[in-house]
Amino acid sequence: MQYCSTRDSAVRVEAAKAIAQGLSRDGGLFCPMEIPRLSDLEFAALLEMNYQQRAAFVIGKFLTDYSADELLEFANTAYHSDRFTAPAVAPVHPLDDSTHILELWHGPTCAFKDMALQILPYLLTAALKKTGEEKKACILVATSGDTGKAALEGFADVDGIQIAVFYPKDGVSRVQELQMTTQSGNNVYVSSVYGNFDHVQSKMKEIFSDVDLREKAAEKNVFFSSANSINWGRAVPQIAYYVSGYCDMVKNGSISLGDQINVCVPTGNFGNILAAYYAREMGVPIKKLICASNENNVLTDFFNTGCYDRNRDFHVTISPAMDILISSNLERLLFHLSGQDDKTIRAYMSALATDGKYVVNEALKSRLSDLFHAGFCDDVRVKKTISEVFSKYNYLIDTHTAVGVRVYQDYVAETGDVTKTLIASTASPFKFADSVLSAIGVDTDIDGTELLDILSKTTSVSVPGPLAELKNKTERFKNAVTKDEIVNAVFDFIG
Ligand SMILES: *Cc1c(COP(=O)(O)O)cnc(C)c1O
Repeated sequence: MQYCSTRDSAVRVEAAKAIAQGLSRDGGLFCPMEIPRLSDLEFAALLEMNYQQRAAFVIGKFLTDYSADELLEFANTAYHSDRFTAPAVAPVHPLDDSTHILELWHGPTCAFKDMALQILPYLLTAALKKTGEEKKACILVATSGDTGKAALEGFADVDGIQIAVFYPKDGVSRVQELQMTTQSGNNVYVSSVYGNFDHVQSKMKEIFSDVDLREKAAEKNVFFSSANSINWGRAVPQIAYYVSGYCDMVKNGSISLGDQINVCVPTGNFGNILAAYYAREMGVPIKKLICASNENNVLTDFFNTGCYDRNRDFHVTISPAMDILISSNLERLLFHLSGQDDKTIRAYMSALATDGKYVVNEALKSRLSDLFHAGFCDDVRVKKTISEVFSKYNYLIDTHTAVGVRVYQDYVAETGDVTKTLIASTASPFKFADSVLSAIGVDTDIDGTELLDILSKTTSVSVPGPLAELKNKTERFKNAVTKDEIVNAVFDFIG
């Protein structure tokens, strides 16, 4: 299978090259030229597989330059029970007849980012071999909190790879910050940045497309790569859990094979919900994709009006991983829905860069509204949702998942659509213990790891192992830089 750039469909690379490079040189994202469809026989076979086998199978449909054995070995290691505490890896938890929670946070960093970032180091290391790359990879990560830790955990002490992570100074929870600043490994660097996530992410994109910096790095035998969701190697493992979640709903008798479901995803950079779109194109019978945002509701407005406009106030919310105004992966969706019209995408993206907005054409707008429903939820309703779900179902959800649950409930109230729905649960509630505690009525001045025990005592839910261990760790990284100092920090780290 070949991949092309969203901004230049004449570019042709294999998956290994797309993964090694991260972003196309023209600033576009790599996309598969066609999306493989699963046959009825293949669905029947997938039903009988475990998560690791399903993941290897789905990933193999896209990464045709990797062998089936190779991918199964990667999946078995990445999703091994010593890394994922749930035997099903990504279990489906039914709340009631129509609401099914897809728990994506049983990995080592307790957020859904692990689903891709545990396997990405294997995909990338293999990609470097396949492409004959001799330089060392330096992975640059801009994170709104969860990607950073998941990437550090995946890449720490991986041979031939260095990793530098930058997060917005006041844009992550204390638990998230401690997870990153206490990271072990000889090839890691972590720094906070004054500013918000969009500032950090735009700087990273600049570095990737800067020819001078690329040459400067090459002199040190290094090239820059990305572990952000713009990397195809991040997107593709995420498709697997929607396929797997559907299979599990069939297996547990909630639906029959072929029945339609809706999928609702709390969204920031549009990576996770884009994976659900790919799963739909592969043949998972998804009726509506429900895009749930927090108060940074640029996507809600976009789906409802066809105008993407980032010229608006940036809100710091209690679902910080979704505090994003430039949802990078939307570019991939527009590329596919426009019939791979690179010229149109270039025009939109250049308007976004210069004016901060673009308006999609009518054809695109109508395709978008056929497929998607979009809504948003503010902090007050997030807290109310956490408390309601906990008292009604004795089930504790985090602030991001709560955005998804509430937007789904709004959708049902608005449309009367009772199709069974899979809601992506993107983090353990313990990662956002302060907000979750306040939602269930416990207000305290305590911050940091002690909150974990308080939340556990209050709810009788145990603290996930990797978070409980934080207490005994010391902070290694206390750097803070401006966004203009990021480049220097990176080159100091490379050495
Ligand atoms: C990253 C993240 C999101 C947003 O996911 P995208 O793929 O960026 O849309 C939502 N919730 C949590 C907990 C996250 O870490």
